[in-house]
Amino acid sequence: MIAEIVITTAALTLIIAARYLVFSGLAYWLLWRRGGEKLRAKRLNRDRPMKRVIMQEIRLSLLSSAFYAAPAAVALVYWLHGGTAIYDDWTLYGGAPYLLLSTFIYLIVQDTHYYWMHRLMHHPKLFSWTHAGHHRSRQPTPFASFAFDPAEAALVAWLLPAMACFIPVHIGVVIALLTLMTVTAVLNHSGWEVLPERFVSGPIGRHLISATHHNLHHQRYGKNFGLYFRFWDRLMGTDMMPETPAAPGTASVSVTR
Ligand SMILES: [Zn+2]
Ligand SMILES: [Zn+2]
Repeated sequence: MIAEIVITTAALTLIIAARYLVFSGLAYWLLWRRGGEKLRAKRLNRDRPMKRVIMQEIRLSLLSSAFYAAPAAVALVYWLHGGTAIYDDWTLYGGAPYLLLSTFIYLIVQDTHYYWMHRLMHHPKLFSWTHAGHHRSRQPTPFASFAFDPAEAALVAWLLPAMACFIPVHIGVVIALLTLMTVTAVLNHSGWEVLPERFVSGPIGRHLISATHHNLHHQRYGKNFGLYFRFWDRLMGTDMMPETPAAPGTASVSVTR
């Protein structure tokens, strides 16, 4: 079993790293090389990404891949041996309504865990060795999406595999969650807002973390700690959006609730 976990960890490290390079590289090429204007995206970052910063982000992200792979490998091997609460017959637990419910449960638990871990990592005594790596760039690039110090990766990476041991979840939902995590992390660090303004400030979008929202966290450390939803930020008074989403990065910001 131990040898199986070690081999699976090595394989997952490569898969997670490849996934990061493909998604981040694609976003970088589409938005910064080809030009986000062609996708009607709104540029958030004043400066173009610097090669030196990108290389630092890639180095940290490749290291993070191993930290994310290890707990995932334990859960995967456990699942292949008949363990965990992951199932593959979607009709179990009442079918489609539970698929939806379990998706929300996972998103809400992950968001709550991240909000509080994130606030904790911004504590002056912890910041330099847990979270400074992620904040190297005030104007993040898609390559910052997975750039975590080993301590941060270790604090966050265990959550989904641990939940999968206790809260029943369909394998399709697991894949959807992992895809959503990747896509939102890459887009929220891309330096561009790809979502239309009317969605970001609309009835659904105004409750979600967007690139506009998270980009501001990289400039104003004390605001916008959430991962998917603005619920905790609003409740704790840490929510902030630019007054004019076209010009973040400038001093023009206001707290919106
Ligand atoms: Zn932070
Ligand atoms: Zn970030």
